[in-house]
Amino acid sequence: MKTIETLFAEMERYAKENHVPIINEKGRVAFLQVIRECRPKRVLEVGTAIGYSALQIAHNGAEDVDITTLELSVDRSKIAKAYIDQSRYAGRIHIHTGDAAELLTTEAPKAAPYDFVFIDAAKGQYVDYLQKIEPLLADEAVILADNVLFRGYVRSEEKPPRRFRTIVKRLREYIEFVTEMPGYATEILENGDGLAITRYRRLTKD
Ligand code: SAM
Repeated sequence: MKTIETLFAEMERYAKENHVPIINEKGRVAFLQVIRECRPKRVLEVGTAIGYSALQIAHNGAEDVDITTLELSVDRSKIAKAYIDQSRYAGRIHIHTGDAAELLTTEAPKAAPYDFVFIDAAKGQYVDYLQKIEPLLADEAVILADNVLFRGYVRSEEKPPRRFRTIVKRLREYIEFVTEMPGYATEILENGDGLAITRYRRLTKD
């Protein structure tokens, strides 16, 4: 079996050559730091691509980590599986193929509760994803969301190009949600394309 470092290097090369948007080099340092701090056990990922971030979470998470990851593209799911099968984490990462909006209500509940979530799929859907994810969270959980500053437009006064307006508006709504909702505390790192780190604590009813 090849080493995990060799596998990561191969995946980084594949992503670059085939324009697959895996977590970028600038965001990766902060991403790995959070994972090493949290050492997550039960993980939900929205947006597998070729399995790079899932493998990084498996490699840096708890010894008994278990990851449920959702991916729309059949081709990418197959590539992710082929890479993951070359690692010792094959039995720990479960890929479900389809639209995350649907899988979050069908497949994802089966492995809940989750103590760690990585949201990295359709940028306009983050609030919808989170609303579906909240009932699946452990009483305390960490939620990472990538690309929340979307090429700098989200915090800029400048009007984004027409084709990005909906995404930018929805990412602003996501940031507002995770910043202002009771039970959520969020820090946004500007590394890469903006990484939101949210610490969630379920509020008791009384
Ligand atoms: N998390 C991966 C990593 O860092 O290695 C990168 C994920 S990439 C930025 C986003 C992925 O989300 C793409 O592979 C895309 O096909 C997938 N995606 C987009 N819309 C989706 C949807 N509605 N449901 C599930 N996956 C979706």
